[in-house]
Amino acid sequence: MHNKNTDVLPTIRLNDIPEVEVSLHQQIGPPCQCIVAPGDYVRVGQVIARSDHPMAVPIHSSVSGTVKEIHHVVSAVGEPIEAIRIESDGKFEYDPSIAPPVIESGEDFVAAIREAGLVGLGGAAFPTHIKLNPPKGKEPNVLLVNAAECEPYITSDYRIICEKPNQIIDGILAIMKWLEIPTAIIGYEDNKPLVHRIFEHELGRRTFKTGERHDIRIRKLRTRYPQGAEKTLIYALTGRKVPPGKLPHDVHALVLNVSTIRHIGLFIKTGIPLLRRRVTLDGSALNIHGNFNVPIGARVRDVIEAAGGVREEPRKVIMGGPMMGHALDRMECGTVKADNAILVFGSEETTIPPESACIRCARCVMSCPMNLLPNGIDQASRRKDLEQLNYFHVMDCIECGSCTYVCPAKRFLNQSITDGKKLIHSEKERYANEQRLLAASEKVSSGKEKQDQPSAE
Ligand code: SF4
Ligand code: SF4
Repeated sequence: MHNKNTDVLPTIRLNDIPEVEVSLHQQIGPPCQCIVAPGDYVRVGQVIARSDHPMAVPIHSSVSGTVKEIHHVVSAVGEPIEAIRIESDGKFEYDPSIAPPVIESGEDFVAAIREAGLVGLGGAAFPTHIKLNPPKGKEPNVLLVNAAECEPYITSDYRIICEKPNQIIDGILAIMKWLEIPTAIIGYEDNKPLVHRIFEHELGRRTFKTGERHDIRIRKLRTRYPQGAEKTLIYALTGRKVPPGKLPHDVHALVLNVSTIRHIGLFIKTGIPLLRRRVTLDGSALNIHGNFNVPIGARVRDVIEAAGGVREEPRKVIMGGPMMGHALDRMECGTVKADNAILVFGSEETTIPPESACIRCARCVMSCPMNLLPNGIDQASRRKDLEQLNYFHVMDCIECGSCTYVCPAKRFLNQSITDGKKLIHSEKERYANEQRLLAASEKVSSGKEKQDQPSAE
């Protein structure tokens, strides 16, 4: 059941948002620091937070209006974060300094993409400039455009393909030019047959106008979750296998989501950074379903209200898709760059069956696209057994949820595996802190020893 209920509905722009709550932590890596103060007037596209950390990208205001406060909130995934609350004046006045970037080299291109605040829009929020800048000797020879959109319900990528194919091709050509990649392959699932015709038409139109031909191929893939997972897509489109613990650049591939590429295309032509994104709204509790173009930071509650409101009290609200999204415990949180869907379910779709003991049927093992043993990881995670978690390669799990979906015992596998990953992360952090403290205390004691040595005078 793919439930792509909104794929034929054109995107509606939502501007009727009273205020935005812009999180300072919008990408994998450390959070940014706020550079505005309460009372400041900000315009659309103005940088409001940045960081010098190589993984961080700047954050821009998605509305024009007044900064009301910089405060601590709880994110959609339940983590404490700092956020900037901006009251919109409804005018959407753009920062006058916005202009197309001047790009003369690959380095300029990567730096400009960083300034655009771009992160992976397929949900991972990995900083795009890091992907565009692989280590020496691992340069990509193929660009893979992820247009699979395999998660049920979500159609935001599909709508961007229908509505902005020209900007997607602009983005693909810019990446191919500046990173000297000879070939691009657009991969889409066969439940979206229009994708092929749309791109074929766009490429043909360009060739007719300019006479230029580019090696951009369009490939149909089987509709099969999680076809859009990076390693699965690389294998499906190129036959290359990314070994466990390795990254796409280890097999000379660059994978980018189609919405990320569209924003690259838009940015290089206009200089407009990442400010808004298409979000699919679906679920039985909503009055109106569809795709909505919302300013980043708009509160979930305001988006739902502006899009038509609810027809019954929501029983479950999910940020993202039903397989990889996060269930929300409140609707006050602001949307972030990675959000591509809000699912609002009523009583029809929200019965959670009770968990029972594992019957060792191995269905979870057979469904895992990463060839892991989800039942083993589940047990290790519940026992908090770090050694076993590492032994079962818990960090290779992409949290696709397939194992939970097929489990007849209704085990909360995904939840338990995510907990296992968190355990490994906190253990690594604890070890790094210990090492730092040890190094610092050694430095202090060696300095003290030097001081204690009798001087020659
Ligand atoms: S969520 Fe389950 S099926 Fe998906 S990668 Fe992780 S272990 Fe495998
Ligand atoms: S699918 Fe569920 S019951 Fe079957 S082996 Fe995996 S965890 Fe156990």
